[in-house]
Amino acid sequence: MDEAPLNSEIIKKRLIENSIPIPESGCWIWLKQANIHGGGYGRISINNKVEKAHRVSYRIFIGEIPDKLFVCHHCDTPSCINPYHLFIGTNLDNQKDMHKKGRFISGHAKKQYCRNGHPYSNENTIYYKKGKTLRACRICRNKAKSKYHTKLRAIYGKIKNVSLER
Ligand SMILES: [Zn+2]
Ligand SMILES: [Zn+2]
Repeated sequence: MDEAPLNSEIIKKRLIENSIPIPESGCWIWLKQANIHGGGYGRISINNKVEKAHRVSYRIFIGEIPDKLFVCHHCDTPSCINPYHLFIGTNLDNQKDMHKKGRFISGHAKKQYCRNGHPYSNENTIYYKKGKTLRACRICRNKAKSKYHTKLRAIYGKIKNVSLER
């Protein structure tokens, strides 16, 4: 494996701070980048090298990954980095598992995950109607909202001290 050596305490902290636990499934959903075209796995950059976040989590919390083996998800949530939802398997195991669960890198997968790889679980899905029923990812919506408010605060803060809290 040509994966970078890990400074575990710092990376543990990054893994925990950049993911949120979903109580209903126990998944830790990676909040940073995900690669939807690469199966929706979360990505983390370590020493300028982009690695799959769930693999890093496995290595940090459980142990090294044997050569040529894959880190698979029990929970079928590619963006999950909860080490207890991960197991080591061969490429065949991984494919079998994906087929069993019907997860492919296809339109079908997109329906189960938002474009950032967060699951459309009961808890993380917002439904709203706008002509037709639409779905939104709560994690992304909250992130967008707080970004927007930070921006507003920065703009208004410069003009006068306007409180945007409600
Ligand atoms: Zn999980
Ligand atoms: Zn999302």
